[in-house]
Amino acid sequence: MQDEKHVNWFALEKICEKPGCPVCNIVDERSERYIDNMLFEHVSDRGFRAKYRQAGGFCSRHAANLESFRDGLAVAILGVDILSTILPELIKKRAPHFKGGCPACAESARVESEFLGYLGERNEEEFISLFTASDGLCVPHYRMLVRMSRKLPRWLTDFQQNKFETLLERSKRFVEYSAWGRQEDFASLDEKDRLVWKELAKTLRGASN
Ligand SMILES: [Zn+2]
Ligand SMILES: [Zn+2]
Repeated sequence: MQDEKHVNWFALEKICEKPGCPVCNIVDERSERYIDNMLFEHVSDRGFRAKYRQAGGFCSRHAANLESFRDGLAVAILGVDILSTILPELIKKRAPHFKGGCPACAESARVESEFLGYLGERNEEEFISLFTASDGLCVPHYRMLVRMSRKLPRWLTDFQQNKFETLLERSKRFVEYSAWGRQEDFASLDEKDRLVWKELAKTLRGASN
């Protein structure tokens, strides 16, 4: 357990230096690694193949980069599985029904709850200073965290609340200054505040795969 904590700590420490929600970034990184690993190491793993077939492959978001994978053979093996399973249905003009969910989505959900759970239990000064130097959690991840745990550390709720409040104020100002006749006020906004709508959209949506 202790070892695992260290692994998560270091992963978060590294990712907190990047722009954007640290959990989104971890999920992105891990789901990419998961897909890569499945294609290169586990393409002949019967368990994975069965899950993949039941799901009808990865969801469109996770399948988006399959064409750019280095190994066409792995992509072909998995694709043959899917197409030969669904083709008889298609020929009969029936819509194939998939029982399982995307395996990469399942892996992302696992990584998300592992890291959110870990984050919700931190109280070390050193951790607090590294996390509060990040952009903080997006709204979907903060929402998930609040649903997971009612007893969140104060530093974390204060930090997130402050992030969201500041973002709301800056966004309101952007809207206000965009009105007719407020050109001078608008011109006084710095580059970051003129693009706050992008930050707002990203914070509300989350960016993970
Ligand atoms: Zn996020
Ligand atoms: Zn997926």
